[in-house]
Amino acid sequence: MSAKKRILIIGGVAGGATCAARIRRLCEHCEIVIFEMGSYVSFANCGLPYFIGDVIVEEDKLLVATPELFKNRFKIQVCTDTEVISIDRDTKSIVVNDKKSDQNRVEQYDALVLSTGASAVWPEISGIDLPGIYALRTIPDSRKIRSALNNIKNVVVMGAGYLGLELAENLVKRGIDVTLLQSSNQILPMLDKEMSSFIEKHITKQGINCRLNSQVTSFKQNQDQRLTITLSNDETMITDAVMISVGVKPRAELAIQAGLEMGEHGGVRVNEHMQTNDPNIWAVGDMVEVRHVITEKWYLFPLAGPANKQGRIAAAHIVGHEFAGESTNMSYRGVQGTSVCGLFDLTVATTGVNEKQLKAAHFTDYEKVYLHPSNHVGYYPGAKPIHIKLIYNSQNGKVLGAQALGESGVARRIDVISSFIQMNATVYDLEEAELCYAPQFGATKDPVNLAGMIAANQLRDNHPLARWEELMESHVQVVDGPEQDDAEQLLALILDDPYNQAQIVDVRTVAEYQNKHIPNAINVPLDSLRERLDELSREREVWVVCGVGQRAYNATRILQQNGFKVKNLSGGMQTYHSYLDTQP
Ligand code: FAD
Repeated sequence: MSAKKRILIIGGVAGGATCAARIRRLCEHCEIVIFEMGSYVSFANCGLPYFIGDVIVEEDKLLVATPELFKNRFKIQVCTDTEVISIDRDTKSIVVNDKKSDQNRVEQYDALVLSTGASAVWPEISGIDLPGIYALRTIPDSRKIRSALNNIKNVVVMGAGYLGLELAENLVKRGIDVTLLQSSNQILPMLDKEMSSFIEKHITKQGINCRLNSQVTSFKQNQDQRLTITLSNDETMITDAVMISVGVKPRAELAIQAGLEMGEHGGVRVNEHMQTNDPNIWAVGDMVEVRHVITEKWYLFPLAGPANKQGRIAAAHIVGHEFAGESTNMSYRGVQGTSVCGLFDLTVATTGVNEKQLKAAHFTDYEKVYLHPSNHVGYYPGAKPIHIKLIYNSQNGKVLGAQALGESGVARRIDVISSFIQMNATVYDLEEAELCYAPQFGATKDPVNLAGMIAANQLRDNHPLARWEELMESHVQVVDGPEQDDAEQLLALILDDPYNQAQIVDVRTVAEYQNKHIPNAINVPLDSLRERLDELSREREVWVVCGVGQRAYNATRILQQNGFKVKNLSGGMQTYHSYLDTQP
């Protein structure tokens, strides 16, 4: 081992603290100093919304590690309330400001790690800096918000990403009326709209007033200290407080000042070892851009898991780079967008790409399936549906992404699919995945297997699928016709109409059909389908629908083997309703 080296780390929370501890585990002899401009290191920012909601009651629980622990256990010096204000790459030094004494000093480094995180996007709206408008990033922020909540009856949350929704939920749990404003036409933009509309309904049922396409143009303070919010349609609303949660941006000022290479999204560019274009400086966490494993595009992915992994990888490389000898055989594989959120007993999770991203990238070689299996076998008490959308490459079956939501077992399924994506797996691999089973945990065909089986059957061409958007665009618009149970007349109408691509055959029971059905769908229950084949036209495709897609799959097989051109409307009426909710 060469002479003792000095490694300085800027930012002492997820990426920085992890990196520091890992460096120590790899190198007992180097000097490690963390500079953190806040008063806490290694705190649980992910727990802050639950501290607001009183789910986490004691503030101490948010402190994962303290400066004392770093000193005693890891021999790492932590300088809190110390802001790094500049980097001089030529002299390999930084200037730090001790905020308590307001004294500046210069610190030399052999290796420098930046993990300065992200800051809340603070939109340029008139009145945005008024009292009563908050963003949640730190423990002091959460204290301020908690104390304000004592006098608050209603809150407007601006932004319906994960954090905005977690905040909304926690405020509702404290008995506060919440209005959620989202500028786009859907909540949770990481999901496709037909999936997010499910959550939108769910949170509305829990009392959140969810307003889409709502852009704030100004805030004004009233005499009674409350705030008047004006929207772009000139509508106004009065509220006690506002939470801004419209996204984050890399806190990259230091990197820019140091002249490090930056990416197109405002994050620092790093290589697979998290090393910047300066060989003595590494950067990790929310401030860096990362490659998406599927699209291979640069991307900002400000979540805690990547920050931690990147911190470890930077540590391994620094130790190898500086001291030679330790293995540096670690590199960052990129992100695949895996994330999860719990909302009022519902879990929503996603991994890989969504359909919007594929469309934006003009990638057309994909297919998708919807399914709604139970989290575990139906005969064991308490089975709950999981709503899943799986997206895969239609040429080679490679799994591209999945979204799921439900009350139980959601995160496990997305984690499994995420692991398969990381291993470049296909739907044929999902089909064969050996997953644990006992009645209370799953099924012999786990939802992950089922997703793989449906997709693999589609690729083998023994289970063709129709896309719901095609139905929405054509068939459903033709509604002026005879009574829907007059099958003969209805079929004639469908066949006459050039806009109808197919005859829709609903294979549920008569009772289910009568309860609700797709306009112009013909009802031929599955159990009588074989006897009633002559009632269907062979001139047009048959699109089969049932409750969730399973009976329609059996019907598809019957019809296919009887010479019909047939497709299954994947996910059945469950998915139909989700799509209906996406219609303007
Ligand atoms: P941070 O952990 O933010 O640490 C950066 C630190 O750098 C800060 O403490 C800052 O004070 C310090 N710093 C910045 N500039 C300087 C400077 N010039 N000098 C000294 N110090 C400086 N992620 C999830 O995966 N799941 C979740 O459920 C989740 N929930 C979240 C909830 C909230 C309220 C917040 C705020 C974040 C949440 N995140 C969640 C995101 C996650 O916390 C971040 O992705 C992660 O902390 C990023 O790690 P980081 O090291 O890049 O930045």
